Amino acid sequence: DGKIMNFSEHIRVIADFPKEGISYKDITTLLKEGGVYRAAVNEMVERIKPWKPDVIVGPEARGFLLGAPVAYALGIGFVPVRKPGKLPSQTISETYALEYGSDTLEVHADAIHSGERIVIVDDLLATGGTMSATANLITKIGAEVAGMGFLIELTFLKGRQKLVDYPIFSLVEYQ
Ligand code: 5GP
Repeated sequence: DGKIMNFSEHIRVIADFPKEGISYKDITTLLKEGGVYRAAVNEMVERIKPWKPDVIVGPEARGFLLGAPVAYALGIGFVPVRKPGKLPSQTISETYALEYGSDTLEVHADAIHSGERIVIVDDLLATGGTMSATANLITKIGAEVAGMGFLIELTFLKGRQKLVDYPIFSLVEYQ
């Protein structure tokens, strides 16, 4: 810790996964390196601190792997956003369009409160669909999205254009 790390060296790029033409960014190679994982989480924590969040929200499943340790380090709560049918209590849901079809995300209705400052953490920003749906869940409840942090951003997909209302950072960019 304390030294500057080149996180991209630890991300494995897999061609044609999960389908042809997609260059998948595999973060499992970064997560298994204890010092690199910790440095990435610490860097996210430093960038998120000034946003003074009350709660960290992370979408299933890789958002858990970064969002939960960020919340732990800040000493605040972590709230999972999940695919339909996974959360046991009453939920609020948001459906969003995909290239083909649609997807739905859910959060527990009593997990976030009006007026709270929320920071959303995920592994990767691509088209921004996941993040705008997650932000909508939070704003529906009356809470404030104070920012969004990513390990990776695929800048060529222009996800930020869907998220212009929110401060955003990413630690690694692919152009
Ligand atoms: P978006 O909704 O911005 O198009 O896609 C972002 C979501 O898809 C994130 O939750 C992320 O975990 C997942 N995702 C899309 N492409 C990749 C990828 O290349 N690598 C990883 N690790 N996740 C991806």
